[in-house]
Amino acid sequence: MTATILDGKAFAAAVRAKVAEHVTRLKTDHGITPGLAVVLVGEDPASQVYVRSKGKMTVEVGMASFEHRLDADTSESALLALVEKLNNDPTVHGILVQLPLPGHLDSDLVINSIDPAKDVDGFHISNVGLLGTGQKSMVPCTPLGCLMMLRAHHGSLSGMNAVVIGRSNIVGKPMAQLLLNDSCTVTICHSRTRDLPGVVRSGDIVVAAVGRPEMVPGDWIKPGATVIDVGINRVADGDRTRLVGDIDFASASAVAGAITPVPGGVGPMTIACLLANTVTACCRANGLPEPEGLAA
Ligand code: NAD
Repeated sequence: MTATILDGKAFAAAVRAKVAEHVTRLKTDHGITPGLAVVLVGEDPASQVYVRSKGKMTVEVGMASFEHRLDADTSESALLALVEKLNNDPTVHGILVQLPLPGHLDSDLVINSIDPAKDVDGFHISNVGLLGTGQKSMVPCTPLGCLMMLRAHHGSLSGMNAVVIGRSNIVGKPMAQLLLNDSCTVTICHSRTRDLPGVVRSGDIVVAAVGRPEMVPGDWIKPGATVIDVGINRVADGDRTRLVGDIDFASASAVAGAITPVPGGVGPMTIACLLANTVTACCRANGLPEPEGLAA
């Protein structure tokens, strides 16, 4: 079998187009421009790249982008004061504090100081609790992107066996919760799981979010399964480097029914879902109907 390639770039472009269409409607019908504020503390190079591309794509879909760059030695009280200001700013509908924060800042404290209604990363404990109890929430962007691709490919996920490898708060756990909310039978694997190959082989859906290059070979995959590879790993390739996922794409794509590539799979969906969450937050804040298909 040769797997269908789930093209994350194309999915993400479709999500951004839907967001842009809704933004235009909010502007013309209601005079509202959705706004996303991104806060970056320090000069971590990878974070700077993420923040720049988030700002660029925010503007491209017609939303307002507010960037706040703070020095690496910014005090916790100064950061909390900025978040409070953004919480109270009616032109800001989404707030994202770029992680990781410098070591002297308490990430949990800062994230939990964001108004949950503006928490477009979905990391606030209120949103985690709402998702866990199946209520309307802000959902973390990467698992939301995976869910959108799975729903687009399968329609209903009801009754499928889903195996999630990784139990982080930003990917593994919310992914498992979303799949459970869509009536999958979910198994969460981690570094202490016994017989990982056997468990993975039970999955009609496999989501890998580990951070270990190509650790899942094709012979762990159930024939015909749908494989979502969240991993982003840089490996040496001669005198260059290249990106690979947590799945061994060559062997897995010969067995799976559908698979996301790396790069070009889950990655592009993450920022698209951040924009989707911002437009959803804007609609909720203004008591307007939410766009269809952009939330969990
Ligand atoms: P993390 O380090 O927080 O969590 C990794 C998880 O993998 C842990 O729960 C751990 O128990 C599990 N694990 C480690 N070794 C294992 C093993 N041998 N067998 C089974 N499980 C094992 O990582 P994370 O933040 O969840 O990210 C995971 C990967 O996803 C990374 O490569 C990261 O770069 C990538 N990522 C991609 C996006 C995206 O936009 N595509 C977003 C977030 C993370």
